Amino acid sequence: MIVKTEGFVLKSRKYGESDSMLVIFSRKLGKINAIAKGAQKPKSALIAGVQPFCYSDFLLYRGKNLYTVTQCEPKEIFYKLREDVKRLSYASYLVELIEAVTIEGQTNNRMFNLLGKTLYLMTKSDIEINTIVRSFEMNFLNYCGFKPEFHCCVSCNKTTSASWKFSSQEGGLLCENCFSVDPYAMKISEITLRLAKYLQTKEITEIHKLKISDFLNEALKKLLKQYILVHINKYDFKSLELAEKL
Ligand SMILES: [Zn+2]
Repeated sequence: MIVKTEGFVLKSRKYGESDSMLVIFSRKLGKINAIAKGAQKPKSALIAGVQPFCYSDFLLYRGKNLYTVTQCEPKEIFYKLREDVKRLSYASYLVELIEAVTIEGQTNNRMFNLLGKTLYLMTKSDIEINTIVRSFEMNFLNYCGFKPEFHCCVSCNKTTSASWKFSSQEGGLLCENCFSVDPYAMKISEITLRLAKYLQTKEITEIHKLKISDFLNEALKKLLKQYILVHINKYDFKSLELAEKL
């Protein structure tokens, strides 16, 4: 059976002499593994569309365990991401997060659109990279079913408290009466909380020029990192750490 779908290449590695083994996040089939035969040959018609991050139109043949890319028309190769190693590392981080949560064969249109918008914004020179990454993380968590609760206490539902903590384990805020529920809960300031709520409700395209102070970015990054570690199995943050060192 032949399927036509658009998709992003999440991963591409050399396979055998001249083939590429791909992980594609496609609109119609969700995440799939596919082989692109001969794609490593310099004259291959597939070569341009099977690079990491590439957004392409694919014609896929469904085999027993694996898809075969029979045709591939690149629509956007995100060349600017490849030129800048810092942006490339951030893009790798986003793509790895998506790979970690998507399930083979399960579509996720909102996640698909989020990835496209984010990669596109990351090629622009006038964006705030920290804002893009934090906004992506927040939207990503919404769309993969792990939305953190920033509006009320996850233990007693109270919406007011003199101070708040954030519990990754419990999935959101703890009011001052419930701090003991999770001894590892982190303090969250009023202003960090406000930013988190704001990012949670805004599309990435609405806020990509918003400037977040280093202090607030660090606070939110730390909190989201711990949350992702608890909820998304096996994710190791190597690409994010590399991006931040560059
Ligand atoms: Zn409470």
